[in-house]
Formats: sequence, C-alpha cells, structure tokens
Amino acid sequence: MQVKRHRLFDAQGAGVPFEATANQGGRLVGGKPRFIIIHYTANGSARGTVEFFKNPVNKVSAHLVVGHDGDVTQMVAFNERAWHAGRSSWMGRDGLNACSVGIEIVNWGKLQGATGRWKTWTGTPIADDRVVEAAHRHHPGQVTGWEIFDTAQLQTVAAIVRALGETYGIAPDAVLGHDDISPQRKSDPGPAWDMQRFRAMLGGRAEEEAATALFEVTARRGLNMRSGPGIAHERIKLLTHGTLVSGIETDGLWWLVAEISDGAEDDTGWVHSHWLAPR
Ligand SMILES: [Zn+2]
Repeated sequence: MQVKRHRLFDAQGAGVPFEATANQGGRLVGGKPRFIIIHYTANGSARGTVEFFKNPVNKVSAHLVVGHDGDVTQMVAFNERAWHAGRSSWMGRDGLNACSVGIEIVNWGKLQGATGRWKTWTGTPIADDRVVEAAHRHHPGQVTGWEIFDTAQLQTVAAIVRALGETYGIAPDAVLGHDDISPQRKSDPGPAWDMQRFRAMLGGRAEEEAATALFEVTARRGLNMRSGPGIAHERIKLLTHGTLVSGIETDGLWWLVAEISDGAEDDTGWVHSHWLAPR
C-alpha cells in the first residue's frame, strides 16, 4: 500500500476504489492526519457500510472501509474530515475528526447471548469459532461475545497504517480505538482487536515474539488447533486450558505452534493467538 495525493494505492500501484460521500467537511488541521482511529461497523457487509455512509441522512462516514476479505474502499481524502469520531478527546485535543483518519472494519462487534448461541444485534447467529469471549476494559467483569477480526483485515489494516505512517509521520502509539477517544460512548474496536499486539505487528515484533516464546492456552473451554491459519481449516485437536505451546510462525492473528507435553514438543498446528498468554 502507498499514499499519493491523499489517496490510497495498492501494492501494484492501482488506486483503491473511491466512493465519494457528502458526509464530510473541511480540511484537517494542518492539512494532514496526526492520528488513526480504528472502528468496527457493527454490521456484516462492506457494501452496506459504504451505502450507509453515502446517505446524507446518516451524517456519518469514514476515510476507509475494510471488508472481510481485506478489500478496501476509500470515501474521503486523507487531508479532509470524515465524520467518524463524534464527541471525542485525546491528549488535550477535542473533536478528533479534525486531526485523524477513520478506518471502519466490517465486524459485528459486541454480540448477545452465550456460548453456543451467540447472535448479532440483528439476530444473526455467529458460530463460537468466530467469537472471542471477553470483558471490555471499560466494563471489567462483564464478559460477553465479540466477533473476531479476519486475518485479511488485520494484514490490510497493518499495510494501510504503515503507508499512512510513512506519508504523514504517524507513530504506532497514535493508532487509537474509538473506545480510547470516546470511552463513555463507544466500545469499538473492543477486546477482539488486540491493539497492543497490532502495534507490535507494525514494527514486525509479533513475528519475532512468536518465533521464540512460550505461551499458555487461556481458553477456558479449550482451543482448537487447526491444519491452517483460519477456521476453514480442519481441526486437528483441542488444546486444553493451560496447555503450553511454543511459537513457530505467524499469519496475522493465527499462529503456528507446537504443543509441549512432558517437556518435549508434540503436535504442531495453527491456533488463534487471542487465547495465548506469554509464559
Ligand atoms: Zn466507531
């Protein structure tokens, strides 16, 4: 990815699809973004999100919409204000629309129900394999389901953030969640988006970390080990809570690990890194 004239271009040098919206207004302060704000759409479709942002009645938008396959649509140039942050503040600045790029990732976010019967706010069922059960840091103790983000989305957003960072001089610690800048009102991107790990990934540290370290499985009901990086791949076995594994390589949020039993390395396979804690 690269940025030219405040537009995003892919690795082949082609501009990403651009769909203009009237839901925008004015230049960013200083003519360039200082922060990048990560959001989830709370729906299941990039097309639906783009149409929603194009409708003047809704008075919301974002610079970029990232779909499940990592497909990207730009809607507002990076030197202009999209309407994604709303009432917000960070480090003494109010109204982050004036100084940030908003990236909306297609993801249902917070779910309703319980293990085995998670559903979206619209009533669509979500399989347990696509759900992280966790409490939002703003509401400790209130464990609920959150849809996982796709590896393609994570990799695309990382590539976008690197390109924006190089062009505008934005450091990894200036990548924020909507829940950072509007903590009273907003839960996105929430606990399924591991911001610390994402920032580490920007600097290439996640790979090094995974290649050398020992981890413990934290999933209370066990963690599926699969033949490839993603839930479409065949399940090899269930790693029980507390199993020790060593990291081998990473593919976004999916990590190839070796199970360690009796001090010796045993089965290897892919697991979702959300449920691995460093030892
Ligand atoms: Zn948001």
